[in-house]
Amino acid sequence: MRVVQKFGGSSVADAQSIKRVAERIVATKERGYDVVVVISAMGDTTDELTDLALQVSPNPRPRELDMLLTAGERISAALLAMAINDLGHDARSFTGSQAGVLTTAAHGDARIIDITPGRIVTALEDGDVVIVAGFQGVSQTTKDVTTLGRGASDTTAVALAAALGADHCEIYTDVDGVFTADPRIVKAARRIPEISYEEMLEMAASGAKILHLRCVEYARRENVAVHVRSSFSDKPGTWVKDLKEAPVEQPLISGVAHDRSEAKITVVGVPDQTGKAAAIFNTIAAADINVDMIVQNISHDPDGDGPDPSRTDISFTLPQSSGAKAIEVLGAKKDDIGFTGIVYNDAIGKVSVIGVGMRSHPGVTAKFFAALAAAGINIDMISTSEIRISVVVGADFVDKAVQAAHTAFGLDAEGEAVVYAGTGR
Ligand code: ADP
Ligand code: ASP
Ligand code: MG
Repeated sequence: MRVVQKFGGSSVADAQSIKRVAERIVATKERGYDVVVVISAMGDTTDELTDLALQVSPNPRPRELDMLLTAGERISAALLAMAINDLGHDARSFTGSQAGVLTTAAHGDARIIDITPGRIVTALEDGDVVIVAGFQGVSQTTKDVTTLGRGASDTTAVALAAALGADHCEIYTDVDGVFTADPRIVKAARRIPEISYEEMLEMAASGAKILHLRCVEYARRENVAVHVRSSFSDKPGTWVKDLKEAPVEQPLISGVAHDRSEAKITVVGVPDQTGKAAAIFNTIAAADINVDMIVQNISHDPDGDGPDPSRTDISFTLPQSSGAKAIEVLGAKKDDIGFTGIVYNDAIGKVSVIGVGMRSHPGVTAKFFAALAAAGINIDMISTSEIRISVVVGADFVDKAVQAAHTAFGLDAEGEAVVYAGTGR
């Protein structure tokens, strides 16, 4: 029997927590499992290291940033191995590179290409508990150390579970599983006992950071069952897996997600001519920037207050981290494309309702929008997929919008969802 257990940063925030996690791991080992542990950096270490880098250099080279950030996971991995050793079990820590996590060369956002877990298998055969530093690997081409993106220790864990043929992958965090909304915002959020890969993918893609998006993609592709639970309790958690049979009483909405990581750019006064939108989004794509929602409105005459039918305003959302780059590349094309200005706004948030039930039920959109209207919340942008409706609202209205949608779709539960640790950063 083989299991991969991943512990997030808030579960190993200090020495005491590392010892507590070590006991949990040893208990699994003593039940007869081969245990591979994927560990995150302690607490908010990754944020703190990033802040530190920016104090030293406003624009650090991505290679050096990865050298810096991977150190966070290396620290917690070594400390955890020490704590397990003191409990009378052999444990060995490995960096991602040593563990055979081979990636692309894209620093800060590398993809796992392959895992060659020779050293892990040998250590397991020796009876050791294996500790792997999460969210990192080594580029197959440059041989440099890479990171896989924020929150990507989840992805390391699922990828290792697949490569090692583990029975399943356990993700230990600071809440009791996947809830119908972020328990930090909705106290009445309800634990979801089982959720399909499909819905979990949509939740993760819509900002529910309980699981890294690529972890869910990987799990679905490799058919790895993921058990999300708290490292602070023994509650049953959530199983993310292939749900062959939908529950009899399919809820209309299975969850509400939010995302504060995006910004909105409005390209103002774009000539209303064929090819202009293509030129804008070609420019953005050439800079490797992912666009999420797009809206086109009629422009206003800069001299009067009336509409100007010869020009349009094109707005789109993108990751805040790409904002500066987008302004730069678009700015360089201002005369070429012929627009009059760029407006940047990062005081926005996206709120999404998700559920496979909406496929067969009309009226979900109306109910969602009515709930927002009743709460006095103005909708800025809208987008939909088959099983999701998303809106952009002002940053100050995100919490209220999530709560309003959660109540409107009857998701509120009796007991309060517990948040055991973490700063929510
Ligand atoms: P870790 O450090 O363990 O990886 P994260 O902070 O990345 O933890 O993810 C756990 C957090 O995800 C929770 O503390 C919670 O605030 C947030 N979260 C967002 N949406 C949800 C949801 N639908 N269910 C549970 N937690 C959620
Ligand atoms: N330490 C990394 C981060 O904070 C990776 C992770 O925790 O999953 O993003
Ligand atoms: Mg996480």
